[in-house]
Amino acid sequence: MTTDSIEAAAARLSDIRDNIDRAASLTGRRGADINLIAISKTHEAPAIQPLIDAGQRVFGENRVQEAQGKWPALRDATPGIVLHLVGQLQSNKADDAVALFDVIHSLDRPSLLTALAKAMDKADRRIPCFIQVNIGAEAQKGGCPIADTPALIAAARAADVPVAGLMCVPPADVEPAPYFALLAKIAREEGLDRLSMGMSGDYETAIMLGATDIRVGAALFGAR
Ligand SMILES: *Cc1c(COP(=O)(O)O)cnc(C)c1O
Repeated sequence: MTTDSIEAAAARLSDIRDNIDRAASLTGRRGADINLIAISKTHEAPAIQPLIDAGQRVFGENRVQEAQGKWPALRDATPGIVLHLVGQLQSNKADDAVALFDVIHSLDRPSLLTALAKAMDKADRRIPCFIQVNIGAEAQKGGCPIADTPALIAAARAADVPVAGLMCVPPADVEPAPYFALLAKIAREEGLDRLSMGMSGDYETAIMLGATDIRVGAALFGAR
């Protein structure tokens, strides 16, 4: 990697960390307690490596197959990488997902829960899963309907699938704050303390409303 690209990555990372610190301190939290997940989907190793060199260790991908293509080599080169799956997951990819990822953000239906529980049993590896909630009740979007969320959480707990918290992607092009606040309320009611919410355009708002895990792509890598 050129020194230039590492310095540019370090500068973007440091800007975002400053914004995280500011948003967290406004609600009496510490920026260091916010988990910044660098969403590297569509980017290849030469774009990812400078961020690793700049110190970032937590990454996210939205497709199992794409992640299988690039992460094994990147991981071999740098110990301590933590990989999150943030995209919709088909049940027939559960084994692959459990083998590759450390955290899954898109558990959103009973059939996928069954597949993940089976995959975790087979691999003898329990992976924390966020329950993705369809917070805007959008027909075309992944996520569990709000009304079905408590039952899915209970079923996951019963199946010994670790529930990390709740995740959402609010509707595009409208103010996201009410959706973040609603996800936080559901999490409180369910006794869950992690919230995966906030992307490049709205992570500061999400943090002020309780996000613990933010998923930032474009602001770290440049526009896709
Ligand atoms: C792509 C993606 C992100 C990151 O979005 P940016 O706007 O690039 O920060 C976050 N979450 C999910 C589920 C995504 O698919």
